[in-house]
Amino acid sequence: MTTTTAAPESQPFQAEVAELLHLMVHSVYSETDIFLRELISNASDACDKLRYEAIATPGLIADGAPPEIRIVPDKKANTLAVVDGGIGMDRQELIDNLGTIARSGTKSFVARLTEAKDGANLIGQFGVGFYAAFMVAERIVVTSRRAGSDQVWVWSSSGGSGFEIAPADDEAERRIVRGTEIVLHLKKDAEKYLEAYEIERIVRAWSDNIQFPIFLVGEEGEPRQINSASALWQRPKSELSAEDYKQAYQSIAGAFDEPAMTLHYRAEGRQSYAVLLFAPSTKPFDLFDQARKGKVKLYVRRVFIADDADLLPAYLRFIRGVIDSEDLPLNISREMLQNNPQLAQIRKAVTGRVIGELESLGEKEPEGFAKIWDAFGAVIKEGIWEDFERREKLLALSRFTTTSGDKRSLKQYVEDIKPNQTDIYYLVGDSIERLKSNPKLESAKARGIEVLLLTDPVDAFWTAAPLDFGGKPLKSLSQGDVDFGLVPFMEEKAEDKGDVSAADEAMTIAIVKEALGERVADVRASQRLTSSASCLVASGEARDRALERLLAQHDKGVAHKPILEINLKHPLVAAIAAAKDAARDISFLLLEQAQILDGELPEDPAAFAARLNRLVLGGLKV
Ligand code: ADP
Ligand code: MG
Repeated sequence: MTTTTAAPESQPFQAEVAELLHLMVHSVYSETDIFLRELISNASDACDKLRYEAIATPGLIADGAPPEIRIVPDKKANTLAVVDGGIGMDRQELIDNLGTIARSGTKSFVARLTEAKDGANLIGQFGVGFYAAFMVAERIVVTSRRAGSDQVWVWSSSGGSGFEIAPADDEAERRIVRGTEIVLHLKKDAEKYLEAYEIERIVRAWSDNIQFPIFLVGEEGEPRQINSASALWQRPKSELSAEDYKQAYQSIAGAFDEPAMTLHYRAEGRQSYAVLLFAPSTKPFDLFDQARKGKVKLYVRRVFIADDADLLPAYLRFIRGVIDSEDLPLNISREMLQNNPQLAQIRKAVTGRVIGELESLGEKEPEGFAKIWDAFGAVIKEGIWEDFERREKLLALSRFTTTSGDKRSLKQYVEDIKPNQTDIYYLVGDSIERLKSNPKLESAKARGIEVLLLTDPVDAFWTAAPLDFGGKPLKSLSQGDVDFGLVPFMEEKAEDKGDVSAADEAMTIAIVKEALGERVADVRASQRLTSSASCLVASGEARDRALERLLAQHDKGVAHKPILEINLKHPLVAAIAAAKDAARDISFLLLEQAQILDGELPEDPAAFAARLNRLVLGGLKV
């Protein structure tokens, strides 16, 4: 091919990329080592993709070297090259892959990076991939040939706002038979990366688990393999140390933290497969991103097949690692993965193992488990709603902040339950502090009844399922009737404050009902309150108030009218019967107070203020 005359074409970076590069170059990011890990990881992915495509098209792999990775430092030219014999990129792929970031959440990440003080930490979490190379290089030249293509393209950039793309010259056409060569023209302060021992150190620390051989090419051009290039998950557990697992986790997951849980086993029987899975100890920034997929990679007999094969349910999407099957056909297409019955079996068995492992960690190493729960508990709880079959197990796994303490399990709750207490009580809200002062807790507190305080957004949803644990139904203190009657007060005197006759009670309720009319579904005497005047609850059939609020925010669902519960022993309530003109104002005040205590605004804040002022002034005159 003669392509020598075409002039290079300039193209701008996607705005987020330009911004990211600017931040990276100008922030004090000390962990520059990771650039090499990122380039090697991309080279390894490219070799994986080649091997996968070659299953259907063996011709792709026929010419050129086997998929492998070479690192070539050149002290004279002050360049470091990372070369792979992988799948390569054509012109459009170079433009798309090295000019944009396709990952979801990039925009919000860049925004956070701009504000954050600890940008370094965030960069690590996000994994800026290829662009990390601009931390150490003032100019990068990528020359690539897509497997099977007769064209070689050169992408080059000095960071800044864009890159250039041009056809390669004849020399490069000959040099690159297949795959990608990335040449970094190193910055002055990055020259240490030309030293063999530095390169080896980084590869050992970060990339030893890469399955393809990595060669370091010496000054005389002699290649020397510097990684072990074995699939760690295929090795017996007895040969592996905690450090090996940590490295495997960091290299497979592209992570920097320690794994909080490691699960490594081999299943034999109707199906054979190796499993190496990890739970991270820190939360990724895009955990709740809808587009975020599970990150467990599927291999078939050591060949990478897919990293989005839904090998675990969505509520375990934080788990990272590898499942390597001996039985699946190598030429399984990505579409076939979805309905493959063998894969469905693997998924079921592995899900059970992961949950079992979490369970035993919770019992044997509560501190390690606490890390996982703090980071991912909100995700695991989605399973209580989604995974009917494992509902009981997931409930047992869950830990809660309650009125009695932190990280309480339902098992502990049931062990400490009061005699005659029939239900497990909970209250859903925005913050623990707010919940703790919610009047709906008063009567439970006075009786020493423990209440789960739920503040994750997902709590409003899973609690909507009918649930019980250890034979005790879960019950919202914000919904339906509660009957604490059989559980005595802790202190006798709490029970009887004031003395109201049944006739007066009925009259008070009738007055409030009349005043509020259509605003509430009903007005009742409360069992929940001891010192506050009123609270709002949902009827037994309606959704919990917290869920109702959440749905209202998103304009979903029909709002149900709440029930107003009033404390007939409260002086303000007791005053209603004799209050004449003020009775209507007091009734509304009871409703509006209850709304405020639930974290809502009164429907008409101005009318609320006017009412309050009227009542206060009325009181002052007396
Ligand atoms: P990620 O690896 O997370 O996708 P990167 O920024 O590291 O993000 O790489 C962006 C994309 O560029 C990759 O997804 C891949 O398509 C392409 N790419 C990078 N390096 C190579 C390479 N050596 N060979 C083939 N494609 C590559
Ligand atoms: Mg990458």
